[in-house]
Amino acid sequence: MNNTPYSSQTPALQTRLPAVGTTVFTRMSALAAQHGAVNLGQGFPDFGCAPALIERVSEAMHAGHNQYPLMTGAAPLREAIAAKIASLYGHRYDAATEITVTAGATQALTTAILCCVHPGDEVIVIEPAYDSYLPAIALAGGVPVLVAMEVHEHGYSVPWAKLATAVTPKTRLIIINTPHNPTGTILRPSDVAALADIVRGTQILILSDEVYEHMVYDGQQHVSLSRHPELAARSFIVSSFGKTYHVTGWKIGYVAAPASLSAEFRKVHQYNVFTVNTPMQHGVAAYMADPQPYLDLPAFYQRKRDLFRDGLAGSRFTLLPADGTYFQCVRYEAISQQSEAQFAEWLTSEIKVAAIPVSAFYAQGKESGIVRFCFAKQDDTLRLALARLAAI
Ligand SMILES: *Cc1c(COP(=O)(O)O)cnc(C)c1O
Repeated sequence: MNNTPYSSQTPALQTRLPAVGTTVFTRMSALAAQHGAVNLGQGFPDFGCAPALIERVSEAMHAGHNQYPLMTGAAPLREAIAAKIASLYGHRYDAATEITVTAGATQALTTAILCCVHPGDEVIVIEPAYDSYLPAIALAGGVPVLVAMEVHEHGYSVPWAKLATAVTPKTRLIIINTPHNPTGTILRPSDVAALADIVRGTQILILSDEVYEHMVYDGQQHVSLSRHPELAARSFIVSSFGKTYHVTGWKIGYVAAPASLSAEFRKVHQYNVFTVNTPMQHGVAAYMADPQPYLDLPAFYQRKRDLFRDGLAGSRFTLLPADGTYFQCVRYEAISQQSEAQFAEWLTSEIKVAAIPVSAFYAQGKESGIVRFCFAKQDDTLRLALARLAAI
């Protein structure tokens, strides 16, 4: 017997993610709840999904699809995804070797980064950026190289010439996001051509976050990198059913990538997640047989966007363009000189409408006098928020 008295102290742990704390989304949602504010902060719908989608999942459970599926994803879902990409964007991925189902887009993004970024490799990230990119790069030991979008009167744009100068022999990966959260901008064919010029003749890979692929407005097209054979050959393309089918809580998405990249992706996926819940996969696959729900999505959200923009048109906010996503960015310089975080807190506690400061999407908290509203809400929710915002 060892009689040494034991200590109940937990050993000290040196954090692997020193820059990570409570996210602004959590803080603003808590503040919104505390003040009874309309929550246009965090990006999720306040309305339900199609009942038919729930029925398909329920049928899958009753049909016995309840055990581990294949590591790469249930075959019917991988086939439905490959067929959809082929019909929309004209690129035929092999369902067996080039499509992998993931537990949401966030897992796909992190896994893609972990499978290709070695310690010391540089990853170019365009800011403002979705909040999961930098922690994933940090876990991989990668070095983020930040390139800020330009903000001008007519919105945001990617400074490709500047991005080209950020490329070094250590650049392993460039992350892009179109349609773009938080700015609502979309890449155009000229942007993609500029990106192709930058990576041509290099070993640089691309991670393309396309979770808002079906939220592009005014008859414009989503410029998926899968449309561009030269770029598709070096890209991981990520999407999410949570965004497309109004089920952000289901956490189901996928990555499409050439076989050699998918093989490396799957090595990490296999020992991190292994596989994604079975009935959801079969249910989504059956639901995808009808393309109408995602083909109707641009019109569905464009109407909400227009309702929200029209309601703010006479207000003291200045609207930035909103070509894609379900976010609307606004300037508030005519109302306040506060920092974005202070202004968002004031909006939430005093005006009772929650927004997200765009500075939260910059590693160094860059201030532009802009906040982001989410318009993926019921019309009544939007009208209530608009009445409050227009009265400022
Ligand atoms: C919502 C979102 C994701 C994450 O999608 P999940 O499927 O919920 O993990 C990834 N990227 C962007 C830009 C997003 O807005």
